[in-house]
Amino acid sequence: MNTAIKTDVVVIGAGPVGLFAIFECGMMRLKCHVVDALEIVGGQCAALYPEKPIYDIPGFPRVEASELIKNLEKQALPFNPVYHLNQQVEVLQSLEDNRWLVKTSAGTQINTKVVIIAAGCGAFGPNRPPLAGIDAYEGKSVLYYIQKREQFTNQRVVIAGGGDSAVDWALSLSEIAKKVMVVHRRPKFRAAPESEEQLHRFVAQGKIELVVPYQLDGLEGHNGQLETVIVKTLEGESRRLETDYLLPFFGLSMNLGPINDWGLNLEKHHIQVEPGTCATNQSGILAIGDIATYPHKLKLILTGFAEAAQAAHTARSLVHPGEVWHFEHSTTQGVPHKETAAA
Ligand SMILES: Cc1cc2nc3c(=O)[nH]c(=O)nc-3n(C[C@H](O)[C@H](O)[C@H](O)COP(=O)(O)OP(=O)(O)OC[C@H]3O[C@@H](n4cnc5c(N)ncnc54)[C@H](O)[C@@H]3O)c2cc1C
Repeated sequence: MNTAIKTDVVVIGAGPVGLFAIFECGMMRLKCHVVDALEIVGGQCAALYPEKPIYDIPGFPRVEASELIKNLEKQALPFNPVYHLNQQVEVLQSLEDNRWLVKTSAGTQINTKVVIIAAGCGAFGPNRPPLAGIDAYEGKSVLYYIQKREQFTNQRVVIAGGGDSAVDWALSLSEIAKKVMVVHRRPKFRAAPESEEQLHRFVAQGKIELVVPYQLDGLEGHNGQLETVIVKTLEGESRRLETDYLLPFFGLSMNLGPINDWGLNLEKHHIQVEPGTCATNQSGILAIGDIATYPHKLKLILTGFAEAAQAAHTARSLVHPGEVWHFEHSTTQGVPHKETAAA
């Protein structure tokens, strides 16, 4: 029995470009399912720099990355996209009737006419500290991404890591948390110099406690609620930090992974596409955004947005071959109300 969901388009990757592809496909009356390996939408913007301002999005002199993602999600909403998060697309299987079967690590199967790969630099996930029993706390009191800053109001937080994310979040959370402790294995940080200076100012003012040179060594708590983080120096001296949350920021591992096996023409970890259509060498598979390459490609969000529009037009002609599509500007076409969008 085939339990696969049927749709027009599967978008692989819910980064900024994948999210805009949902809107563009929606305007072409195409229904999208979207898969992302991360548990949140927004790709690099959400996972790597949510609080950083972006200055080169047309029409927005300055927009925080998280705000851009919120708006892209809102713009896609009238077209009722179905998100399959926290799962990686592992297999693209060619079917007899010029369709594709998309299979994910969570067992989701989607039968689709078109696949749009908006996979950035591949599936990425957090580098998890190798601590016994950490999985019992993950998603509850050990968090790799921050979606709601307010949840840390009056809480004790241990942040582990020495890069931009660790330092930026320590500065930000010190405004609302009861206590912020930063665990790092050496006194020197890898963050932007001005952020590191501010970190040391906050430490001097007693707003942040530095726990250096220590490494994470163990966790204690009950039912997913962390109570103590145990840290150790290389010499074996140990400390117990009482806390409500642990935020390990050890970067993300990025990996083209299964994309290498999909029979696509690759060039230095990117998928070669035809400019103008975003078509790959496999019929029905398109690629856009950071992962797509062609001569003189600019790896910018705005380039990816244009590619999303081009790919949506290509997808329309693949889903409805031979049909003459009457192009209308969005000002003429409008967008459906959420309830009446592509069913
Ligand atoms: C610190 C920083 C600052 C930046 N500043 C700017 C800027 O000012 N202006 C600008 O234009 N750009 C900037 N960029 C670059 C910009 O973020 C990228 O160009 C943009 O994120 C690319 O979007 P995307 O949707 O193509 O890919 P991504 O944002 O990388 O999203 C790809 C998504 O695909 C998912 N994925 C991959 N493979 C799979 C799979 N097999 N199954 C399921 N999911 C998968 C990933 O988990 C990820 O969520 C910056 C980048 C960084 C790191």
